[in-house]
Amino acid sequence: MKILQLILLLLTLCSFTTPDEKQTLRQWPPAAVVSDEAVSAYSLDSCFKAFPIPDAIFRRMQGKSYKQNCTVPRSTLRYLRVLHRNIDGKTQLGEIVCNQSIANDLLDIFRQLYKQGYKIERITLIDQYDADDERSMAANNTSCFNFRVVSGTTKLSKHAQGLAIDINPLYNPYVHLNNGKVEPANGKPYATNRTANRKVPVPFINTSDPCYRLFIQHGFRWGGAWRTVKDYQHFEK
Ligand SMILES: [Zn+2]
Repeated sequence: MKILQLILLLLTLCSFTTPDEKQTLRQWPPAAVVSDEAVSAYSLDSCFKAFPIPDAIFRRMQGKSYKQNCTVPRSTLRYLRVLHRNIDGKTQLGEIVCNQSIANDLLDIFRQLYKQGYKIERITLIDQYDADDERSMAANNTSCFNFRVVSGTTKLSKHAQGLAIDINPLYNPYVHLNNGKVEPANGKPYATNRTANRKVPVPFINTSDPCYRLFIQHGFRWGGAWRTVKDYQHFEK
């Protein structure tokens, strides 16, 4: 009897999924919105996965996040497929390039954030913005790997190894405390007065934020705890 009920449930779930949505999930176009029924029918496990960098993705990264002088071997990076709740609460497809050493952490964290309904506006590769950090942050894009130096220095960033990720960067900006500069520039209204009851489309990251707690549980450090700068969007390992 129980097996029969399970089969009926599965058939019901499948009946809500259009062939188009199944195709969308198979092809995984970044930023596509899909129904929760389609996700259930496709299986949640298949929606949170890490792969060696596929050729098509590596071509997208060339000369952008993967610059000519990049010293990080392609084999140490991973391409992740994840789901997230966008600012309308809809299920959206996301993609991340990160270091293989944090791939499982990120899959677990993003899976839990998705289950909790945590809102993240956009998760696509920074190559979509020609690896221009300011443009990607201004679009509130969550991203990880980018072979670049720390802003305002000549030191390689943790992002250069795919060991750092920026979450909802527009509403969680990078604030230089010495000169007041805010990155992205359109994030200035969110650099101060970051109280819990202030209305913003996505949560502010602070020490009581679920996203903060998950990253800390997984052994990451938070840029919002630094002294000379406040990098509210940034977690690194
Ligand atoms: Zn960062």
